[in-house]
Amino acid sequence: MSEAPILKDTVRSNGREALQKNIQAAMALSEAIRSTLGPKGLDKLLIDDDGRTLVTNDGVTVLETAKVEHPVAKMMINASSTQDRIAKDGTTSTVILAGEMLQNAWRLILQGIHPSTIARGYRKSEQHLLECISEILLDSNDEIKQSVVKTSLAGKGHKSMQEIIANIALDAVEMVVEEDSTVDVSKIKLISQTGGRVEDSRVFRGLMIPKKRISSDMDKVIINGKILLVDGGLERKNVTTDLKLNVTSIGVLESFRQEERQMLFEQVDKMVGHGITVLACRESIDDDIKSYLTKVGIQAFRRVSKSDLNMLARVCGAKLISSIQSTSETDIGNCSSSENITIDGKDFWVVEGDGKAATIVAKGSTVDIIGEVERCFDDALGVSTQLIEDGLVVCGGGASYVALARRLRRYAETIPGREQLAIEAYADAIEVIVRVLAENAGIDPITTLLDVVAEQTNAKSDQIGINLTTGKPENMINLGILEPQGIIKQALVGATEVAISILRIDDVLWAKQDLEMPDLPEDEM
Ligand code: ADP
Ligand code: MG
Repeated sequence: MSEAPILKDTVRSNGREALQKNIQAAMALSEAIRSTLGPKGLDKLLIDDDGRTLVTNDGVTVLETAKVEHPVAKMMINASSTQDRIAKDGTTSTVILAGEMLQNAWRLILQGIHPSTIARGYRKSEQHLLECISEILLDSNDEIKQSVVKTSLAGKGHKSMQEIIANIALDAVEMVVEEDSTVDVSKIKLISQTGGRVEDSRVFRGLMIPKKRISSDMDKVIINGKILLVDGGLERKNVTTDLKLNVTSIGVLESFRQEERQMLFEQVDKMVGHGITVLACRESIDDDIKSYLTKVGIQAFRRVSKSDLNMLARVCGAKLISSIQSTSETDIGNCSSSENITIDGKDFWVVEGDGKAATIVAKGSTVDIIGEVERCFDDALGVSTQLIEDGLVVCGGGASYVALARRLRRYAETIPGREQLAIEAYADAIEVIVRVLAENAGIDPITTLLDVVAEQTNAKSDQIGINLTTGKPENMINLGILEPQGIIKQALVGATEVAISILRIDDVLWAKQDLEMPDLPEDEM
């Protein structure tokens, strides 16, 4: 039978050839970011189409910025992005783990083991590890929490920068944690400023907006105020060309303007009627109305961004309204304080309400540094959130992966048939983290792994990992190299998921690209 017409314009590769190509693509991607893993990992310089540069050590940033065409490589990048979304860290590890799982799978395939058998063995390994991870968990205290956040920043910036970012992130998360221990990170705002040192970064309770009240005659501080948020302005409309005014006598235009002005005053009176003391508008507020607002005791802010208004709405329990005329009591929010402050010569409006909020003012000397500082805060806040919500941690520096691999090998012995080989291959694969950490620190990877395994067995400890400074196995608790359990769990789940998906593909159909000649100007032809 001839090939179905639907496949006419496709290039097809199937069976082992397809699998080999896919595994090669996945491994190429994992090779590309391998050198960034861990505190001794190197940075990548990324240059985009417009020549903008970015220096980073963050796995997911490298992958998401790179222009990758291969669909299998894209699957790996998606796994890394999912890791970033769910666990905020461990993005490089996920890709390295998946790459190693596939490499080991390929070895088994060459020995004649079917990819489905390997996929089943990998799935069993993952399930077993998720059960036995509870055996290696540690409880956290304040000191441990700080170590965990610092570990998540390993390789990014210098030591004192890691310390300050870790402390600020933990404080910020404490400020917004709810009674049921949940944290909504979107309640933490990050304002970044170039100029100054990272060490000058600070966190404030409440929502800070880089704005000044529209008149310095207005009250600087309002306590227990009522706030109104307007998704528009308090201004006269510009007379547009398609508006027709029938001017029949002298002064009509003036009286029209007068009436418009009157309407603004009425809107202010309306606010006074509702007891409003703080006003924020997305658009402008007419200068004419400034002194009247001041007189009636309203502290007003104009051109507040929509995202800030939305945050204000959450913090103060207010609703964004489009017209002041139709304000109802339920639209109005409460702010326990609304204050104008100056930090290093810059004006800020600080609002606290019933809802929790915190603002981090991050500083860095150049645009590049501030970019990396922002990414560090992003990681640190994600990890701090997990710690506050869950509090259970595991040892880093490869210790947990070695401890889990040991358990997996014992489990493999109980599984009959070829799946046993797949489980052993999975155990070998997760030890890759120790090898790569060593490799990047210029230490022999194989000896390091063997030393760590031997030391864990001899000391009957799951906490021995690699000290990258001395190159010797050491207890990770003593070195403060700790991670939230969520990072390791999610890295294992994500890597297994993508590895199995790739192993299950045995047919690749590529739509043929339309290779059209680009239009060239006549004289170049
Ligand atoms: P990822 O994107 O996977 O988080 P990182 O480059 O952040 O990659 O490296 C994380 C790995 O580095 C983790 O396995 C962590 O335990 C390990 N690590 C961090 N700091 C140290 C350290 N000082 N010594 C040994 N291992 C460390
Ligand atoms: Mg990390």
